[in-house]
Amino acid sequence: MAEPAAPRKTDIGPPHYEQFLHPVIKKNYGKWKYHEYMKPGVMVHVSETGDKIYSIRVGSPRLISVDVIRMFADLADKYCDGYLRFTSRNNVEFLTDKEANIDPLIQDVQAGGYPVGGTDNSISNIIHTQGWVHCHSAATDVSGLVKATMDELYEYFVEMKLPHKVKIAAACCLNMCGAVHCSDIAILGIHRRPPQINDDSVSNVCEIPTTVSSCPTAAIRPTTVEGKQTVKVDGDRCMFCANCYTVCPAMPIADPLNDGVSIWVGGKVSNARSEPKFTKLAIPFLPNNPPRWPEVTDAIKKIVDVYAAGANRYERVGEWIERIGWPKFFDLTGFEFTKYHIDDFRHAGETFKRSAQIKFQ
Ligand code: SF4
Ligand code: SF4
Repeated sequence: MAEPAAPRKTDIGPPHYEQFLHPVIKKNYGKWKYHEYMKPGVMVHVSETGDKIYSIRVGSPRLISVDVIRMFADLADKYCDGYLRFTSRNNVEFLTDKEANIDPLIQDVQAGGYPVGGTDNSISNIIHTQGWVHCHSAATDVSGLVKATMDELYEYFVEMKLPHKVKIAAACCLNMCGAVHCSDIAILGIHRRPPQINDDSVSNVCEIPTTVSSCPTAAIRPTTVEGKQTVKVDGDRCMFCANCYTVCPAMPIADPLNDGVSIWVGGKVSNARSEPKFTKLAIPFLPNNPPRWPEVTDAIKKIVDVYAAGANRYERVGEWIERIGWPKFFDLTGFEFTKYHIDDFRHAGETFKRSAQIKFQ
């Protein structure tokens, strides 16, 4: 009988993660008993066997150069036997089983210009979508915007002084590749004008049936202009998602005057204490104002400051707002309540407030 064939070698899909686990993590897989925070940015996980693994969390600028990756890799070689990982919020986490290595590693990280923190009751790294680096639907430069915001919130990254963790996310258009719908505070780039159609180019550079079917609200129809096949957009149906521009470059949607940023609050993924929540609109529009976006950073700082001053211990932003009531939230932050805050989407019935009672405090 023939020998069974050797496993096929393939480059499809990622390699099995197990080969990258720290030996202590691999040895204690499924046996971890508890973890605790030793100081900002430093966690220890303790196993039933008595083994310990230390994680040192470092803020990354998200858009990182090869030089920076090399620096992190060299530090991992020096202090952590080469083990590090990137978290889902783009923090860099160094992993070591040697407690004595923690402080020298932190000193080297800080000497390299990077902060250590982001654990427990702090603001973790702000996650953001890929933006203009890879995607052309962007309504703002999330990388610059997040850098400016994080600089403003630095103290909340390096200290654990908030009532609970605060997760902030930014997405550069309403396709929301990031976790903006379920973060405590969300920054969302928005277009406010339908795509502009270049009738001369559509039939040359776009497949018209694909373009028509790319629209989630059926706002695009084929048409003919001066004998040329093209498309038209029903502006009342358009929700400015830029899907059509992705498949048809003759329909640019970016617009320096009308594009900007909206702010959303109160989302979370966690099931602890209260059910997961979607974010809700706080500010419908702020201008794109690079390089430091002062209007946006002021608004985010305001939300964090009033939350820090008023929330109970272990209360997430959404739980705090629901306890004090949305009118009080607008009152405390000074944000204007506008017609855009009234939810008029189809199927939004479940989110309407049906009772006449409003909780003022
Ligand atoms: Fe592209 Fe929008 Fe995703 Fe940003 S959020 S990466 S613009 S699809
Ligand atoms: Fe349709 Fe979105 Fe294009 Fe508007 S931006 S026409 S909603 S695909």
